[in-house]
Amino acid sequence: MNELPDTAAFARWIGTFAASLTEHEAHLNALDAAIGDADHGVNLRRGALVLATLVRHHDFSRPEQLLRAVGSTIVDHVGGASGPLYGSFFVRMAAALATTTGAVPLVGAMRAGVAGVAELGGAEPGDKTLYDALAPAVDALESALSAGQSPARALARAAAAAEAGRDATIAMIAKKGRASYLGERSAGHQDPGATSAALLIAAARTLIPS
Ligand code: ADP
Ligand code: MG
Ligand code: MG
Repeated sequence: MNELPDTAAFARWIGTFAASLTEHEAHLNALDAAIGDADHGVNLRRGALVLATLVRHHDFSRPEQLLRAVGSTIVDHVGGASGPLYGSFFVRMAAALATTTGAVPLVGAMRAGVAGVAELGGAEPGDKTLYDALAPAVDALESALSAGQSPARALARAAAAAEAGRDATIAMIAKKGRASYLGERSAGHQDPGATSAALLIAAARTLIPS
C-alpha cells in the first residue's frame, strides 16, 4: 500500500465505523456492565452521531485534515476513558500522515495512532484494553503488506488479528481502567474497548473500494 487511500476512502472508513458503533451500542454497554459502568456503547454512540455528519458533509481535501477533525470530534463528544484514547489514536494518525513521505504511510500512521493510545493510557500488551485489539491488527497489516499481499487482503488479515486480540482479552486480568478495580474477577469477560477497537479495524476494510 505505497499509495495512501484518498480522503473519500478515509471518510468511508469513519462512516462505516460510526454506523457499526451505533449498531453495536447495546452490546458494548452490556460488555461494560459486566466489568465497568455500562456506558461504553452510549459513550461511543454519542461520538458516532457527530462523526456520521462530519464525514457526510466534510470538505477536507486531505486525509490528515479529516482524521484530525475525527480525533477532536471524539475528544469533544465521547466521554469516559475511551474518548481521549480514541481521540489520540486519530490525532496521532493525522500528525503522522502530515509528516510521512516514505512508503506504507497507512501502516506508519496507524502505528503512530497506537503509540498515542499507549502513551496516553499507559497500557501494555495483556492489560485487557483496546490496545490488545489495535496493536496486533497493525502488526498483521504490516507483515501482510511486507509479504506482498494486496491491501484488501492485508486489511482483512488486520481485521482477523483485531478479532483474535479482542477474544484474547476474555482470559486477561484487567490492569488499566475501571475493570482493573475488579482484579481477578475481571477474567472471563471480553473487554468492551477491545470490542469497539475490533469494529474500528473491521471498518478499515472499506478503505479499499470493493
Ligand atoms: P469508562 O471506563 O471511563 O466508563 P468507557 O466505558 O467508554 O470508559 O471505556 C472503557 C474501555 O476503555 C475499556 O474497556 C478499555 O478497553 C479502555 N481503557 C480504559 N483505560 C484504558 C487505558 N489506560 N489504556 C487503554 N485503554 C483503556
Ligand atoms: Mg464505561
Ligand atoms: Mg464511564
